[in-house]
Amino acid sequence: MTRIAIPEGSPFGLSNLPYGVFSTPGTAPRVGVRVANTVVDLAAALGEDVFARPSLNAFMAQGRERWVEVRDRLIALLAGDVPGSAVHPVGTVRMHLPIEVADYVDFYASEHHASNIGRLFRPDSEPLMPNWKHLPVGYHGRAGTVVVSGTDIVRPSGQRKAPSDTVPSYGPSRRLDIEAEVGFIVGAGSRMGTAVGVDDFSEHVFGAVLLNDWSARDIQAWEYVPLGPFLGKSFATSISPWVVPLLALESARVATPPQDPEPLPYLREKNPWGLDLDLVVEWNGQVVSRPPYREMYWSPAQMLAHMTVNGASTRTGDLFGSGTVSGGEKGQRGAFIELTWGGKEPVEVNGESRTFLEDGDEVTISATAPGSSGTRIGFGEVHARILPAI
Ligand code: CA
Repeated sequence: MTRIAIPEGSPFGLSNLPYGVFSTPGTAPRVGVRVANTVVDLAAALGEDVFARPSLNAFMAQGRERWVEVRDRLIALLAGDVPGSAVHPVGTVRMHLPIEVADYVDFYASEHHASNIGRLFRPDSEPLMPNWKHLPVGYHGRAGTVVVSGTDIVRPSGQRKAPSDTVPSYGPSRRLDIEAEVGFIVGAGSRMGTAVGVDDFSEHVFGAVLLNDWSARDIQAWEYVPLGPFLGKSFATSISPWVVPLLALESARVATPPQDPEPLPYLREKNPWGLDLDLVVEWNGQVVSRPPYREMYWSPAQMLAHMTVNGASTRTGDLFGSGTVSGGEKGQRGAFIELTWGGKEPVEVNGESRTFLEDGDEVTISATAPGSSGTRIGFGEVHARILPAI
């Protein structure tokens, strides 16, 4: 038996306990929980087969009562001695995609981001479209290209046409960008023909991850009218390996910014809440932005309610992204197109003047949030490197 040492101030203390899928050399991927600098093998520690699976889906599908019960058991277990064979130093494990992604939807919930993108893509019109403050705008993305942190991203190729070009051309994207987001994971689904009300969010959503919605701005700008994002985004979406349970985020809840006009009744929460997450974006190791999630206009519960209000079902493993997290200050913008204002205002990265991503570049997004009893909990990070186009 062994006692896991949790250093004072660890972002992975007992108030966090995020779930992931890991393997050690020569063993199959299985569910673990992160505690300080270790990963605890849950099938070994709890003796339940539901954790000996290569994704969290089977456990998530058991529903909220089970999520509460397992978390309570873990908090009690990990405060004492655990079998040494169930504990692995985090540096010795490989992390895998934590969920089998069912459907993937991406929203556009930051007013700052939507306004900035509106000004950049449609400089002669109102920055926000007329619907933006009446509904959480979103689109369906490609679930099969969601990858775990650490997976290299190949620069996409496609059609692009700058305003000054007379005809489109084909080739590697020249304006490859990031979008720093938070992703929410549906654990318990809902039936087709029913809607998930704004106050039922925590019955359905299991937890949250960090998400990088890689975006080829030149491909996107040429293709997106009239049906929205397609190949400019579907080539890859990265998520962090640790799923922070919603149950760990209760102390991180904050009121959303005032919503004016008042949304339609199905989007009205008794107490609309967002999350007090501080994101950090690093470009080749240098911090270039600190997006604050608390400024997001639409709440996670409003996004889920909107996504199902037409009777669309949800399934275990559904992932929905918040949209780029951008604050009101320049140093809080979560996409490079905003940070460099369409490439016109380069930022300095390690002494070089930079606009969009170059081959070999690395991007890391991390985040922390308030935990219970004055603690701080960590989301870990979502990291990737850009490889040249094939
Ligand atoms: Ca996005």
